[in-house]
Amino acid sequence: MSRKRAKYVFVTGGVLSSIGKGITTAAIGTLLKSHGLSVTALKLDPYLNVDAGTMSPFQHGEVFVTDDGAETDLDLGHYERFLGVRMGAKNNVTAGKVYAAVIAKERRGDFLGATVQIVPHVIEEIKSQIAALENGIDVILVEVGGTVGDIESQPFLEAIRQMALERRGDAVFVHLTLVPYLSTVQELKTKPTQHSVQELRRIGIQPDFIFARSPVPLSDSARAKVALFSNVDAASVISLPDVKSIYQIPPLLAAGGVDRQLLERLRPEKAEKTPKPPAKSAAPLMERWERLAKTVLLAKDAVTIAMVGKYIDLQDAYKSILEALTHAAAAHDRRLDLRWVDAEELQDRTLGETFKGVGGILVPGGFGERGIEGKVRAVSYARLKSVPYLGLCLGLQIAVIEYARNVLGLDGATSTEFSPRPRHPVIDLMEEQKKKKNLGGTMRLGACTCNIRKGTLAHRIYGQPKIRERHRHRYEVNAAYVQRLAKAGLVAAGTDERTGLVEIVECPSHPFFIGVQFHPEFLSAPLAPHPLFKAFVGAALR
Ligand code: GLN
Repeated sequence: MSRKRAKYVFVTGGVLSSIGKGITTAAIGTLLKSHGLSVTALKLDPYLNVDAGTMSPFQHGEVFVTDDGAETDLDLGHYERFLGVRMGAKNNVTAGKVYAAVIAKERRGDFLGATVQIVPHVIEEIKSQIAALENGIDVILVEVGGTVGDIESQPFLEAIRQMALERRGDAVFVHLTLVPYLSTVQELKTKPTQHSVQELRRIGIQPDFIFARSPVPLSDSARAKVALFSNVDAASVISLPDVKSIYQIPPLLAAGGVDRQLLERLRPEKAEKTPKPPAKSAAPLMERWERLAKTVLLAKDAVTIAMVGKYIDLQDAYKSILEALTHAAAAHDRRLDLRWVDAEELQDRTLGETFKGVGGILVPGGFGERGIEGKVRAVSYARLKSVPYLGLCLGLQIAVIEYARNVLGLDGATSTEFSPRPRHPVIDLMEEQKKKKNLGGTMRLGACTCNIRKGTLAHRIYGQPKIRERHRHRYEVNAAYVQRLAKAGLVAAGTDERTGLVEIVECPSHPFFIGVQFHPEFLSAPLAPHPLFKAFVGAALR
């Protein structure tokens, strides 16, 4: 069997972090995919955590969960949304994962007495974890986390350098840097970019493209300077001025000719036995992205959603939810007007004021006791005032707690996550979870099949009796209370196929009151909004 060779696009970053490497990588993928190529992406994270599962959203932003239950960097969310390709554990390689693998091999005696070292053993492990994605895929995008010059990223950069050397002609390097604008002299400054490229070349990597992120479009002279000192064609210095919506990035790259140049350099068809049909044009798809960006930014009307959370200072902690709401609003031709509500500050007497003019209330996932009582108040408000409610994971658990307390009259009903021996543990651990000791990797994770009951709101929304959605939680609705809750009007509309655990609750007497134990936000995409979010926004508009 002749396997075609995968082509690689390695994306590194310079000068600063947080200049949009993840989105840019995803957008390159969108472009390549629009030419009919199969594309996937991989994130290299230089930190020593084995995965993002134990990292605080305060520090690191959202933990993105894949179908196979991997807890990964939020950039994988961008990849899935932009590429329409399912990610998995293999698509996120951390230093922790690499070292854990090398050390496990050492303990097994696999190295036959050799001294185990960063070069070659760690480097080889990185290379093999990257190459594990080569499975008939045309192009693999590899994003290196961190910035060039960090101690942590060095082994990763060495690994991609070697990979490119071993695959001459099948790999390109994209370096994304910041070109700041100095208002005192009214000039774009290219020096930091020059230094960062020098650093990259010092370790043996010559970039093929410089993507220059800057507050304003790159001037011709700045472009010429970057090209000259980076040893890159002027046409391959791509200007990435700040934009208001991430959906503008794929068309922006297309306008800079990035897809054409990448196809010329990589010639993906070269590796194939059967030639591809003539290259598809990216134009129709790019128009869809542009239209979407326009709606998101400029739609005449907005939909106002209140998000009651505890990480409200760090919006990255709720990245996928924000995205899913934006997609859903756009599907209704609306802008999203998101009102952040700090759960800890919610008081009964100010609820009316807080939620004034709000079309829907959302309680997202979360861990720990902080802010719980405020979230319960928000649910009461939504239930009693017939405001559309969507509860995600913890948001479902809060809905059950609220209903148990205020409708069933079960005083002190709560989750055993917040109180060890409550009178009414309406949310509790399953037996198998109770035995686990380490916090890393002890949750119900990844995609599970849920059966939806006919005649429910959930069934109308999904339009099918079986769905697969992703999980990330330890606690469950306590089966001992399910019937009582249902009798009082909070019914289980969906249950887990394997275990029978409650997956969806809803309140048929309310216009839109639904809680889900899973995370639908991970499956929403800009051009394919998730039905649950779409229905929620629809209800919020009515
Ligand atoms: N803390 C809850 C649990 O572990 C909810 C988790 C979540 O919202 N992701 O079950």
